[in-house]
Amino acid sequence: MSPGPLPFAGALDIPAWLCENCGSWQRWFERPPACPLCIDARHVLPQDGWSFLTLEEARAKYPCVLDEPEPGILRLRNDPAPGIGPMGYVVGDVAFECCAVPSAEALERIGRLRVAAASHPHSYGALHLLQDTFDCEVALHPGDLQWSSALRVTWPWDDRLELGDGLTLHHSGGHFAGHAVLHDAPRGILFCGDALKFELDPEDERRALTLSAHKAFVRGIPLSPAELRGYRDLFARLDFTQTWTPFEQAANAGRREALQLLDGMLATRSHAAPVPLEELG
Ligand SMILES: [Zn+2]
Ligand SMILES: [Zn+2]
Repeated sequence: MSPGPLPFAGALDIPAWLCENCGSWQRWFERPPACPLCIDARHVLPQDGWSFLTLEEARAKYPCVLDEPEPGILRLRNDPAPGIGPMGYVVGDVAFECCAVPSAEALERIGRLRVAAASHPHSYGALHLLQDTFDCEVALHPGDLQWSSALRVTWPWDDRLELGDGLTLHHSGGHFAGHAVLHDAPRGILFCGDALKFELDPEDERRALTLSAHKAFVRGIPLSPAELRGYRDLFARLDFTQTWTPFEQAANAGRREALQLLDGMLATRSHAAPVPLEELG
């Protein structure tokens, strides 16, 4: 789906490599020397050096699981997963986030896609493979263009982008400059990317016990007050009772809990510590 000319048609005709430390892909003409996303301050370096896999090697090592946690929403994940193990979601013909290694069977089950989007680079996963397979639009915020070189962004947008069927992308910034969330208005679900983070009940994967917000979860870096206010102003405008990150699908936490977490930090100071949901009720 090309909205314009491709002056250098071979730009993406280079092999893609999976970083086993973070689960992101980059195109390089041989096994890459390093992973830019791991070097970034929001991630960590591999403790024992780099490891990069081809798609064939990755598929042999990381089986893909596709299921439907809510009617009409497909979830793609790898078990075991490379790196941080983001999950991908497909709502109708829109994909938001992607797992690192989708199987050929999973892609066949998806069937067709009109749009592929993601909150931020940590959960692009194999977004490039969705574009290669389905020739779909790639709707990413330009704030993160520097991280999208394995893809071709076809539908850049600014504050918000309506995708149809009650699905709307909103720019949130914060964790990444171009960080975005997807609001599913009919279902009351906010796909919030890494804007929020949950710890789940080991007995019930749909029930969150704690909630936190952070600039860099693995490094324990808090958000700045302006970044917290950006999340707060956006979430206050959206109606949601469930919150799905790339790693959790919390059915018991929505706008009310998110605003209480953010208001608490704005009234005192920002931190990256998990707050029990019962303290936010
Ligand atoms: Zn990496
Ligand atoms: Zn992230």
